[in-house]
Amino acid sequence: KSLFNNLQLLPPDALFNIKQRLSTDSRPVKVDLGIGAYRDDNGKPWVLPSVREAEKLIQQDPDYNHEYLGIAGLTSLTQGAVKVLLGQDSPALKEDRVVSVQSLSGTGALHMAASFFTKFCKDKLVYLSDPTWANHNAIFETMGLKTASYPYWNAASKSLDLEGYLNAIKTAPQGSIFVLHACAHNPTGLDPNEEQWAKILKAIVEQDHIVLFDSAYQGFASGDLNKDAFAVRLGLEMLADSAPVIICQSFAKNVGMYGERAGCFHLVLPRQDASVDTEHVKASVKSQLAKITRSELSNPPAYGAKIVATVLNNPELTKQWHADMVTMSSRIIKMRHQLRDSLVSLKTPGNWDHIVGQTGMFSYTGLSAEMVQRLEKEHAVYLVSSGRASIAGLNSGNVEYVAKAINEVVN
Ligand code: PMP
Repeated sequence: KSLFNNLQLLPPDALFNIKQRLSTDSRPVKVDLGIGAYRDDNGKPWVLPSVREAEKLIQQDPDYNHEYLGIAGLTSLTQGAVKVLLGQDSPALKEDRVVSVQSLSGTGALHMAASFFTKFCKDKLVYLSDPTWANHNAIFETMGLKTASYPYWNAASKSLDLEGYLNAIKTAPQGSIFVLHACAHNPTGLDPNEEQWAKILKAIVEQDHIVLFDSAYQGFASGDLNKDAFAVRLGLEMLADSAPVIICQSFAKNVGMYGERAGCFHLVLPRQDASVDTEHVKASVKSQLAKITRSELSNPPAYGAKIVATVLNNPELTKQWHADMVTMSSRIIKMRHQLRDSLVSLKTPGNWDHIVGQTGMFSYTGLSAEMVQRLEKEHAVYLVSSGRASIAGLNSGNVEYVAKAINEVVN
């Protein structure tokens, strides 16, 4: 008898299953608004020009090879990456309070955080926004951590439930872990404004909570790296004398490294009094992170890391990368406007301004699960049942078609 005869069959992953259904759909016109991956105006994946140049430089290098990286990854990546996130003038960098290691993209960085918490503070509750990226729950719960949620999205007003959010921060057990989306909140596309961030972070400081910033869309959201790092930098400033801050950084979207799995895990220590040997603390943290990586990956993947490091450390390519992010973000913003304008001109019932007010890859459209189902069945327009649409899947050739399809299912 097989050990596995009674194994439970799990449902397919909701998001990746969309791709599967779409690929077997034989209708001539189909639209993929499911997975969060950038597409150009022809609906094709886009290799950033800065990345193409970086790849050429890497392959021309006489020392080009496929050797293993060290356990902590490529130093030129982690050092370049932390500057992008924290800014050149970051006090935490000047004061040398940051530990950075390479991770298996953003998911790997989150998993590393979960692994770290399991070892050192496994009883803490991990607070996730309601709603959040579906994988957040899975990543923390798989490691045996308990998750809770904080209110975020007010469905009626399609805006931030700030009161509920602040109340959850105040009533959570002191010292809980709060996972915050650094920018371009997934799935809602709704970020707190600067004033709201200050209130949220102040409440967090008062309750001694630990912040984990999930930074998966820096520069991709607005086209401006500094603007998209506002929350992270304010958080570091406000928590500098009290608590460590963890940042999980992905280059999947902003460098288009999706499948190459390039990312970093950063832990920023607070300022400590002279009796603490910060160098020793940093070395200890690093050794623990190394142990996690060694047992799970041995060492992180090299190719994407080399590409990102080349882009970050070559001034010409960095400049090109900044332009590439503007190309991506402005095309998405344009699509938001075209979709909203088409819905308005079709006189589709409801207010569609939230589509242009939201930021990043996604729009939380407000379409019901039933409408989403009809979009797929009757119009071959695919999105997740929550009504989240990846705006990157729209282009000048299909946006009108999608607006008409939405109009049809809403009416
Ligand atoms: N966090 C959020 C909020 C995301 O949306 C994503 C990507 N969908 C990630 C993390 C991680 O992505 P990756 O592992 O591809 O870097």
